[in-house]
Amino acid sequence: MGEKTKRLKIGNIEIGGGAPVTIQSMTNTDTRNAAVTAEQINTLAKNGCDIVRVAVPDETAANAITEIKKMISVPLVADIHFDWRLAVLSAKNGCDKLRINPGNIGNTERVKSVADACGERKIPIRIGVNSGSLEKDIEEKLGHSPEALVESALRNILLLENLGFYDIVISIKSSSVKTTIAAYRLLSKQTDYPLHIGVTEAGTPYSGIIKSAIGIGSLLADGIGDTLRVSLTGDPVNEVKCAKEILKALELRKCGIEFISCPTCGRTEIDLVSIAEEVERRCSGINKNIKVAVMGCVVNGPGEAKHANIGIAGGNNSGVIFKDGVVIRKVSAGQLADELMKEIENY
Ligand code: SF4
Repeated sequence: MGEKTKRLKIGNIEIGGGAPVTIQSMTNTDTRNAAVTAEQINTLAKNGCDIVRVAVPDETAANAITEIKKMISVPLVADIHFDWRLAVLSAKNGCDKLRINPGNIGNTERVKSVADACGERKIPIRIGVNSGSLEKDIEEKLGHSPEALVESALRNILLLENLGFYDIVISIKSSSVKTTIAAYRLLSKQTDYPLHIGVTEAGTPYSGIIKSAIGIGSLLADGIGDTLRVSLTGDPVNEVKCAKEILKALELRKCGIEFISCPTCGRTEIDLVSIAEEVERRCSGINKNIKVAVMGCVVNGPGEAKHANIGIAGGNNSGVIFKDGVVIRKVSAGQLADELMKEIENY
């Protein structure tokens, strides 16, 4: 993905230049509590998160990075607002990437201190432009338009480039899906730095997932985006699960079982909804790149889902198991889920 972007290393993970699109998330624990934060990072990693960001609001949080790093294996991003000293301290303490906007740091000397601290350690910087925190003059001239986001990003890029710093990742997020898509499309024509994509403050899971899927999905379908974060209110594990589904849907990453099920109709004679929910739940922890189908009827199910590796189709208080498009046996309705799981494990 992002074939034309520059390739960068965030810890042991590569982004840009055609590397697989990576999934990011952010902890919602108190970073100063290293043990609790590391535990959440490891849970996110177990669920498929490639890179995790933590907020660094003060010196104690910046110092916790050293401890957190000892307990995790995914790259860690330190998120800094304004305070250049926290950025330098986070770099010294071993973060793998910084998220900071050079334009918010103050004078050039301060920006240089941050760029030097990162440059010496090969730590990339993400410029994270957000429609809610644009520079005043840009906001006055261009409002919260896509052009405003792009102009802010280019201005921040220039601040780093003028100091000889080029390991840059850029994000230009807005809570408006349309603005986000338009802004990234514009920006991708003007830069070859890797792009971190997402819709900011997308909301609670139901609306947030829809907004993120449209925003992130549209960009990825255009070939734009090297790494992504789905922003959802609540447990960040949901962000990772949603990101995986977006990447799976666009066939950009193989992230475990792809689950398909029919919408049910008047031909359905079994409780397909419960079976589908159970199978999806039981499949979520299995790391096999196969397609599993749960279909309502034997008449159409195996045919409609013939591209699935394994599936079930319901009948009259019974059902069939099919494998690579061929029915292999008949089982009672109550055993469908268990028998399907057995086939998945042995596939
Ligand atoms: S697979 Fe069968 S039950 Fe499901 S929607 Fe198609 S026809 Fe209806």
